[in-house]
Amino acid sequence: MNNNSPAMSASLEDPDPLGSEVPEEPPSTSAAPACSVLFPARPARRFSLPLRIPISNRTRQFINDFYPHITQAEWSNWHWQIRNSICTLDQIQRMLPLSEDEHEAIARRSTGLPFRVTPYYASLIDPSDPLQAIRRSVIPVTGEYLVSPGEAEDPLGEDNQSPVPGLVHRYPDRALFLTTGFCSTNCRYCTRSRMVGDRHKFRSGIKQWQQAIAYIESTPQIRDVLISGGDPLTLPDSQLEFLLSSIRRIPHVEVIRIGTKVPAVLPQRITTRLVRMLKKYHPLWINIHFTHPDELTPETQAACTQLADAGIPLGSQTVLLKGLNDRVETLKSLYHGLIKVRVRPYYLYQCDPILGSAHFRTTVAKGLEMIEGLRGHTSGYAVPHYVIDAPGGGGKIPLLPDYFQCRQPDGIVLRNYENRLFRYPDCECGNPL
Ligand code: SF4
Repeated sequence: MNNNSPAMSASLEDPDPLGSEVPEEPPSTSAAPACSVLFPARPARRFSLPLRIPISNRTRQFINDFYPHITQAEWSNWHWQIRNSICTLDQIQRMLPLSEDEHEAIARRSTGLPFRVTPYYASLIDPSDPLQAIRRSVIPVTGEYLVSPGEAEDPLGEDNQSPVPGLVHRYPDRALFLTTGFCSTNCRYCTRSRMVGDRHKFRSGIKQWQQAIAYIESTPQIRDVLISGGDPLTLPDSQLEFLLSSIRRIPHVEVIRIGTKVPAVLPQRITTRLVRMLKKYHPLWINIHFTHPDELTPETQAACTQLADAGIPLGSQTVLLKGLNDRVETLKSLYHGLIKVRVRPYYLYQCDPILGSAHFRTTVAKGLEMIEGLRGHTSGYAVPHYVIDAPGGGGKIPLLPDYFQCRQPDGIVLRNYENRLFRYPDCECGNPL
């Protein structure tokens, strides 16, 4: 905890205690132009300086094709990435030959989860393959408009477990702090699509945050606060520091966690300044949302390395998605790549039944098959917990393949990863149970 931080000195009575930081402006949600012709012509500075976050060859080619006049500094600036996010049919179809279905889905979209992709993440999309995992995760298809039985706008019942706006208190000792409804890139299967990007529904800001902080302060059993959203790492440093310092000074809060997809979709956000600020609020953990091994670019690996070097324990969470990552080899490749950059696979989520999610959802048997194919076949560190977040607000329920076979008088029979049976003498003080 650092009581001398600028954010800590901001008065809570000030109607805008965070508004003074000019360089870290809040993200723009306007549909900014993404086409190179809209940038003023100027001599392009070539990409020669050593970069904190590198630029991969694939992305370099994308920049040359669609943003030939921007500078290295612009591309590597997270504000530029957000301001120039691709949000319209016109913008995306200049970059990708859309399938008929994708075209119709984007053209039809008027409400609900907006379409938004950072230029960086767009550079990872395969223009020739509408079934590519990264493409499917962010480019809408008409399946989004088909509502199936059991689907709901708020399947986890979060709104019913909010004692104050923007805070979910489901488990006794943990609280989920929903800080913003904004994401730099919108995942089409988002559990919080009811609030992400739709500013009419989810309003956040200093007054709402103060209410949530006051609730945590007055609830001593809360020892763990998860800052999420939307994506909290899209907040300016000053606002993030205000939140972190306010929560850190509450004596009964032991651990603060941040849930984010930023290192995968906007690695440029992991600035030296951000990392320096974050490390003041240890113990701080970060859980990063990853979908597919294609996301493990040099850029993302550098972002994760910087966070890990700051002593921040990193975990991952992945939603199991039909046709995107529901193969053991795909997940194994993702998890091995994550371990190499010190991100521990933490959760594999069964996809939540949000409205229009049937085209993304696998069977539960498929999820169990993934765990069966990982457990024993790779190091335990590379095997996440497979969980279903129970509809209606029951919390996360872990699922495992049936390794327990039966109980016998002299112990229990277990099945190992090779399907061989073993007896364990499950006895109390040497006596059969
Ligand atoms: S990053 Fe998370 S909150 Fe944002 S759109 Fe994706 S799943 Fe939703």
